[in-house]
Amino acid sequence: MNSDNIQKKNLFYRDLFNPRGLIDRPPIDKTLFLAYASMLAPGIYVLAIGFGFIQQLSNQTPNILNPHYAMLFLSICLSHIAALSFVVIHGKRLRKSTDRSELLWYVVSLSWIFSMLSTTFLAGSHFADGVLMLVMGFTLSLPLQRFHSIMAAFGTALVYFTMLSIVDLRDIFPSGQLFTNIPYVNGELWAPWLYARLAMGFGTFLLAYIACQTTASWQVREKEFKRLSNTDSLTLLSNRAHFLQRSALVFNQVNRRTDALACILLDLDHFKKINDTYGHHAGDKVLIAVAEILKQNAREYDEVSRLGGEEFAIFMPTTTLDVAAQVATRIRERLEEKCIEVDGHTLNITASIGVSCYPDVDIHGIEDLLKKADIALYEAKRCGRNKVVVAGENDFSQFKSA
Ligand code: GH3
Ligand code: MG
Ligand code: MG
Repeated sequence: MNSDNIQKKNLFYRDLFNPRGLIDRPPIDKTLFLAYASMLAPGIYVLAIGFGFIQQLSNQTPNILNPHYAMLFLSICLSHIAALSFVVIHGKRLRKSTDRSELLWYVVSLSWIFSMLSTTFLAGSHFADGVLMLVMGFTLSLPLQRFHSIMAAFGTALVYFTMLSIVDLRDIFPSGQLFTNIPYVNGELWAPWLYARLAMGFGTFLLAYIACQTTASWQVREKEFKRLSNTDSLTLLSNRAHFLQRSALVFNQVNRRTDALACILLDLDHFKKINDTYGHHAGDKVLIAVAEILKQNAREYDEVSRLGGEEFAIFMPTTTLDVAAQVATRIRERLEEKCIEVDGHTLNITASIGVSCYPDVDIHGIEDLLKKADIALYEAKRCGRNKVVVAGENDFSQFKSA
């Protein structure tokens, strides 16, 4: 075995004890892991039944195993172990070449369902045990596998449950037939049975731990994905999609009679010149500095966003036109005063700003609010830049220059 393979093997076994790392492993490793975990139940039952047979053969105990069901159950467990061994052997081969493990995953998930339900059913323990183990299996497999595989497994479980319910209701195959009696020997619980139950309990506990760990790291990952999908990577402000989503949400919840909303739209003046003169990295530094100024001048519940390029927006809930115009003017002044040092040069910037506000007869949704701010911004550019233009309540010709 070369060192690469040894390292892979070590990683795999290390992950068994570090379930959080499992989430990053290739799908084939996850399938292998589930195959090993699924062997727990049939493995323990085979041992317990085997021990029971030996006890009976040596005539040390009265017959407590129902011979018919014991053989049936034993063969179910053995074929189950055989199916999982196929997964392990084939999966290990696949690990070297490719990650495609769809078939193996189906075998593992079916075996899990089959094992949990049939063992609890045949062994006559409570049906709830089966349900618990099933839930455990899915909890474990959820963070580890892909969506459509999980749905297929759920579908299979549903069919299996329906079949078991019919069997149960019509009394076709009464549960708990593995033992002729509940496994008491001379008034005491039959030891191998007790050990098997203890081992199952420990296994369940272990799987619960793994399921919790992987689910926790899945949640952390999901939060991070969500944050990244809402954030502009350069300025760390919210991005256009998130801005539109949040502002539309707030707009739809607004009380039409009492609430006011405002939007500030800002575009840097002659920004292209900065890029052309000092380079793209200088432009990036300017964008970061602008984002900082916008954040400093907005309130906590305002949505400050980089809509794209050198265009920014602030959505301001419960804000009237006058207040928004004051904030916009303050931002314009701060930007004008700001000196940005890049490569020994001091850069100065200005911005043109458009402000719009709801209620307004023309504004019925967030798109209208943005459109009106955009027209005001265009007007600010047309009037010579470095200006704040406020969209008048009913009439776009009533622009006020600050
Ligand atoms: P105006 O005053 O009319 O707005 O002129 P302008 O030069 O600011 O506008 P224009 O739309 O002509 O140019 C915008 C520039 O912004 C062009 C593009 O290269 C630059 N830009 C867009 N995104 C980025 C970015 O992420 N980083 C940098 N450095 N530049 C960007
Ligand atoms: Mg510009
Ligand atoms: Mg622009």
